[in-house]
Amino acid sequence: MGDIVSLTGVHKAYGRHGNRVTALDGLSLSFLAGTFTAVMGPSGSGKSTLLQCAAGLDRVDAGQVLLDGAPLHECSERALTVLRREQLGFIFQSFNLIPALTARRNIELPLRLAGRGIDAAAIDRGLADVGLAERGGHRPAELSGGQQQRVAIARALVTRPKVIFADEPTGALDSHTARGVLALLRGVVEQHGQTVIMVTHDPVAASYSQRVVFLADGKVIGELAEPTAEAVALRMAALEPAGSGAKPC
Ligand code: ADP
Repeated sequence: MGDIVSLTGVHKAYGRHGNRVTALDGLSLSFLAGTFTAVMGPSGSGKSTLLQCAAGLDRVDAGQVLLDGAPLHECSERALTVLRREQLGFIFQSFNLIPALTARRNIELPLRLAGRGIDAAAIDRGLADVGLAERGGHRPAELSGGQQQRVAIARALVTRPKVIFADEPTGALDSHTARGVLALLRGVVEQHGQTVIMVTHDPVAASYSQRVVFLADGKVIGELAEPTAEAVALRMAALEPAGSGAKPC
């Protein structure tokens, strides 16, 4: 299979002349369809900006962003909205569920927004796939953090998107619960052939991916295939700014 997301020579800066900050500095990076990639790097290295630009949530200043061959940098806002709704799924650290809606209604929401029909049996399967077959009638406040994130994953999957973008999906979970959520994301790739792109700062989370890409100063500075948590932690330690942990001289 080929690339499903591809960024070439992408530049993105924020602010004006005096306080201009370069977030992405000629970044080039591709993601193969049907793979699970973790994006890591120090705070401020451009991870969130990369996710926003790759998902068509933000526009690049220069360069190309292709989603399954479609040039996002040339799309109108309207086309981007439709494309995001139909082809992408999003998972956030803070779950972003609608508090007033049950788990089932939260999962159905992307279908309603897209004007698609709702197949109750498919929603049942979606709930069962994330281990929540008995919880469809519960509101987010009646679910644990891990269960809420499972609802968010089912919601992200319900439209069968080509790519799922996850921004620190386990950042608010304890380590045991986090592992369950990560195993679920890995399963999405292995069983359904979907593509997952996940920003994380946690080497254990990254070890569930098949490839880790390291950013620094808005550029790709390296990657690891089939990463272990130890190898990721070592590489991250080398990337931390000098002085963070170093002895005073
Ligand atoms: P990361 O996710 O790796 O922490 P970001 O992509 O959030 O990095 O940020 C990259 C750089 O761009 C940082 O220097 C950050 O301060 C800056 N930046 C990000 N978003 C904005 C914004 N909306 N306005 C101004 N500067 C921003």
